[in-house]
Amino acid sequence: MSLRLIANWKLNGSRDFNHKWALKFFKNFHGKNFSSLGIAPAALYLDHIKELLGNHDIEVGAQNIDTENSGARTGEISASMIKDTGCKFIIIGHSERRIFFHESNQIIRKKLIQANQNALVPVLCIGESEEENQNNATAKVLEEQIIEALEGSIELSSLIIAYEPVWAIGSGKTPNPEDINSVHEMIKDVVQSLFPKTGLESVLYGGSVNINNASSLFEQKNIDGALIGGASLDGKEFALIANVFNDLKV
Ligand code: PEP
Repeated sequence: MSLRLIANWKLNGSRDFNHKWALKFFKNFHGKNFSSLGIAPAALYLDHIKELLGNHDIEVGAQNIDTENSGARTGEISASMIKDTGCKFIIIGHSERRIFFHESNQIIRKKLIQANQNALVPVLCIGESEEENQNNATAKVLEEQIIEALEGSIELSSLIIAYEPVWAIGSGKTPNPEDINSVHEMIKDVVQSLFPKTGLESVLYGGSVNINNASSLFEQKNIDGALIGGASLDGKEFALIANVFNDLKV
């Protein structure tokens, strides 16, 4: 099975944190299938995490890449460097990057091309703001984000989309699972009808997923998995969510 449950650690972690996380995770995860799981730590710790995960085939990925592959771009990390560390996926277009680092759909498109050229699976994050949600503009906003990020010459051999309503991230608020399911169905329809050559693997949900709401989400047909921020920082909670996922989806 391809990647379905991804931990986004954001700007968190240390060698000590990573070590304790791995101990808690392996103590509490009861599944046999690790390949649907992914961890995106800060890029500095990619090697350390890989070392801690040993030969369990949990995928490791990064949270961001540059739009270019090399050159005079002080402080940046390229897709080829991330690939070189043995990573399989890359998160692109997270709302925190769109908001704090002013990433437009055009910048995100360039990053998708970099990921594709370097055989990394892009996890493209899309989502509407609270105001857009209240104005019933969710479908329009998501469609625009998809079209502007994918249009033109790119044919992505593989793609994961994470639907993350901005207002649900880190807030403890989540849309109801049936509504998320319909949004995911719409995302799949848009990608399949407008970009039929794109290898869409799955549509994940992200936004305040935790052990209490995991089963109600994974019961939905079109919610293929989750991108998890806050709750993934606890190795035990991530393992318990992964156990629920295994029971319902694997
Ligand atoms: C995220 O940042 O991708 C995310 C889903 O965060 P949280 O789970 O904390 O809402």
